[in-house]
Amino acid sequence: MKNISVIGSGTMGNGIAHTFAQNGYAVALIDINPEALARALATIAKNLDRMVSKGSISEEIKVQTLANITTYTSLAEGVKTADLIIEAATENPTIKKKIFEDLSALAAPHAILATNTSSISITEIAAVTSRPALVIGMHFMNPVPIMKLVEVIKGYQTSQAVCDTIMEMSIKIGKTPTLVNDYPGFIANRILMPMINEAIYSLFEGIAGVAEIDTVMKLGMSHPMGPLQLADFIGLDVCLAILNVLHDGFGNPKYAPCPLLVKMVTAGDLGVKSGKGFYDYAAGMKDAKVAANFLK
Ligand code: NAD
Repeated sequence: MKNISVIGSGTMGNGIAHTFAQNGYAVALIDINPEALARALATIAKNLDRMVSKGSISEEIKVQTLANITTYTSLAEGVKTADLIIEAATENPTIKKKIFEDLSALAAPHAILATNTSSISITEIAAVTSRPALVIGMHFMNPVPIMKLVEVIKGYQTSQAVCDTIMEMSIKIGKTPTLVNDYPGFIANRILMPMINEAIYSLFEGIAGVAEIDTVMKLGMSHPMGPLQLADFIGLDVCLAILNVLHDGFGNPKYAPCPLLVKMVTAGDLGVKSGKGFYDYAAGMKDAKVAANFLK
């Protein structure tokens, strides 16, 4: 396992590329959008600078990390020599299935095909390839260079040898992998999203306000961030989409998204990315106040 290709250079792709490159792997970073590739390299350089100034890495490591990354807009060129390909493109089943269909033909026969999907079934993605035993989930957390967890997801047909290789590989890049089976939401989102949904229901039913709900969970449960603020950071549209996957996948009404969440997403209040969710980010992240009138 020497050559790693990362498909998609957005929030997650640039972090995954950074982490592998910093650990000495040759990384091909691929995106259909050349501007996204330029932004990714700038973000990686900025994050490495911050690590140098904090003393957590040397200037030499920073220079070597950047030298280990090559960018491509062509999938065929970018995956040609890869031993492991990690797909971190937009969370859309049609886009992902097309990428995996292409990879099935373009990647070397021994190459392991991983996806960083938050909610799409690994088994469903594997089914469009001619090598389902070599398809696996590697669910990294944001920000990737900082967060220790990799949720490794074994699809219905993923081989045990591929699971073992990916678990070992995750340890080599300084992460703590956790193996889980392929069912809706895996483990992270199956537990996190119902908690966020319950927090929104508590607000919707007028049991407590935004700040009160977040304070209970921060100070009472030692969570670094309250569930409503966390939902703003993840994106309310992303939370809604994952709850719908849980609801559809299990057919259990306990996963039904709260009507307030649906209404906020419909109105375009998506959290940090739109400037407003449960909090208003107009005055900046640190001075964000509870958003006024969002219950109306
Ligand atoms: P993003 O929107 O920041 O980046 C996606 C990138 O994929 C864009 O640069 C886009 O140009 C590129 N892309 C789209 N189609 C492509 C194609 N056919 N080939 C190559 N590149 C293509 O998204 P993100 O937040 O980085 O999420 C990526 C994946 O990671 C999703 O599956 C998401 O569910 C998952 N994920 C996200 C988070 C998170 O906190 N953002 C956490 C865990 C997992």
